[in-house]
Amino acid sequence: MTTAYLSIGSNLGDRQQHLQTAVTLLKAHPAVNQVVVSGLYQTEPVGPVQQDDFLNIAVRLETTLTAPALLDFLHEIEQAGNRERQIHWGPRTIDLDILWFGESVINTATLQVPHPEMANRLFVLAPLREVATPARVATVTGLIAATTDTKQVMRIGEFEDHANE
Ligand code: ADP
Ligand code: MG
Repeated sequence: MTTAYLSIGSNLGDRQQHLQTAVTLLKAHPAVNQVVVSGLYQTEPVGPVQQDDFLNIAVRLETTLTAPALLDFLHEIEQAGNRERQIHWGPRTIDLDILWFGESVINTATLQVPHPEMANRLFVLAPLREVATPARVATVTGLIAATTDTKQVMRIGEFEDHANE
């Protein structure tokens, strides 16, 4: 069993629903257990392109999958949530990234773990700190203190999990 951390974001369409669907699918996988979800964060997009704010969450989970198998599953979830993208070109509705996979260090063409951009993304680190185990909190706090990301990242509430209703 491996403890894995994910970052999940959406900035298109019903963003909260896309996050909800992703969490529901994660919880439904027989090889994924103990899914813990952070609060819900809103991040202003930067740059000239007019687009919705991002909504972001972080997830901690236990899994018997290998890291590549988990990545394949995350791609399936993305494809399930991105059906509308086949019609409308645009930003993806849902993005799931592996941040940490146990203590694994992976550097293949299709998978890099720890996620190489996490230290540069406050919208990843802020929710991650909420779900980090006690042994990981200091690491995340250090990354947050050191990051050069100045974008506004706002916690807007609890993630409302309707999966079991
Ligand atoms: P981004 O997440 O940077 O916005 P994408 O979601 O389009 O970009 O990811 C592109 C590719 O990144 C994926 O197809 C995947 O193979 C690769 N990748 C490498 N490392 C990771 C990781 N740790 N988590 C998720 N995807 C990863
Ligand atoms: Mg991604």
